[in-house]
Amino acid sequence: MKPFTYCMPAKLYFGENCISKNSDVFGKFGKKAIILTGKASAKKNGSLKDVTDALDKNKIAYTVFNKIEENPSVETIVEASKTAVAEKADFIIGIGGGSPMDSSKAVSFLAANPDKGSDFLFEAKEASHLPIVLVPTTAGTGSEATQYAILTNHVKKTKTGISKRTFADVAFLDGKYMLNLPLQITRNTAVDAFTHLIEAYLCNECGFLSDMLSETGMRYFKEIKSCLAKGEFTLEDREKLLLISTLAGMAIAQSQTSLPHAMGYYLTYFKHLSHGPSNAVFTKAFLDFVPEQDKVSKIMELTGFKDSSDLDSFVKSIVPTVTATEEEINYYTDEMMKVTGKLKTVNKPITRDDMYKMFKQSLQK
Ligand code: NAP
Ligand code: FE
Repeated sequence: MKPFTYCMPAKLYFGENCISKNSDVFGKFGKKAIILTGKASAKKNGSLKDVTDALDKNKIAYTVFNKIEENPSVETIVEASKTAVAEKADFIIGIGGGSPMDSSKAVSFLAANPDKGSDFLFEAKEASHLPIVLVPTTAGTGSEATQYAILTNHVKKTKTGISKRTFADVAFLDGKYMLNLPLQITRNTAVDAFTHLIEAYLCNECGFLSDMLSETGMRYFKEIKSCLAKGEFTLEDREKLLLISTLAGMAIAQSQTSLPHAMGYYLTYFKHLSHGPSNAVFTKAFLDFVPEQDKVSKIMELTGFKDSSDLDSFVKSIVPTVTATEEEINYYTDEMMKVTGKLKTVNKPITRDDMYKMFKQSLQK
């Protein structure tokens, strides 16, 4: 059998009211917390109140930093880290989608190493960091179960993962925070999770356990397809979407994302297309390109699609897409050919012409 390692040290609490039922968990992380969140949603969906009630119960003081934007920039991370240091935070609580959750991981390193600048995040060496508690309020990134944090890098004009890696210590998964998640964000984030399942499964770093996680997530995705199409969700459906997202996060944590994620970053940076749809644009080209066509057939069996075209039509019926000019495609192709780490996730050599064709097929009709 193919060798594999497995590590997912974040303790997960799943279920309705899991924060109030386990509020003592916060007590072990210190006496002062900084809560990182987005502009408004955490206040409206009840997650911020559940967290602050739990902190009050434990007599833990807190500061709320609510300036984490979508696709957070390195500059925002630096500002949040300075606030964490000034407030003498003992630990970080990230509430929201992937943006606040990823930010929490990045801030945990800079806040524990206040003499370092942002370049420190992109140095692969291990470093100390503050404890992290995460509360997802979207079901897509699975960041609560991954060691990755993706930031917008205006110097490189794209998004890049930081090289410092850490899992959360604890994550609370409560589907009720997503009950009023707008339909388009629900679909965009569900598609992000779906692409994680597929990419982890076809990445050359996949293994027995990541495949098991992906396959289970795909079975659940089959069950939730009709809700995504109709746009109607019960609490149980929301929980199922959240579980798919977490399973997919656990799968990419052991395996990796592959070409669609790396190719999609250009669409998010230059065309402001949301993260999930940006990956989805390239999923068909990726499925058709990879050598593991037996596993592609298994994906179709598990998800209930006829073939890659059927899967593509479904995904494009629920999320937006974009087109690109010849000049843009050539630029993206040249840039992607430099991302050697991602090119290596595919089990066959990729030429510039292969890459160009994948961009062209996906972005020009
Ligand atoms: P997001 O950028 O965190 O949030 C998108 C929008 O959803 C924001 O406007 C946010 O509003 C709103 N929102 C969040 N929860 C809501 C709720 N319950 N109700 C209503 N609105 C809500 O989106 P995301 O797709 O979850 O995260 C994307 C980021 O994660 C990207 O940067 C991506 O690269 C990264 N990512 C990371 C991993 C990983 O392994 N770490 C994997 C995939 C993607 P507010 O601003 O008001 O909160
Ligand atoms: Fe993703």
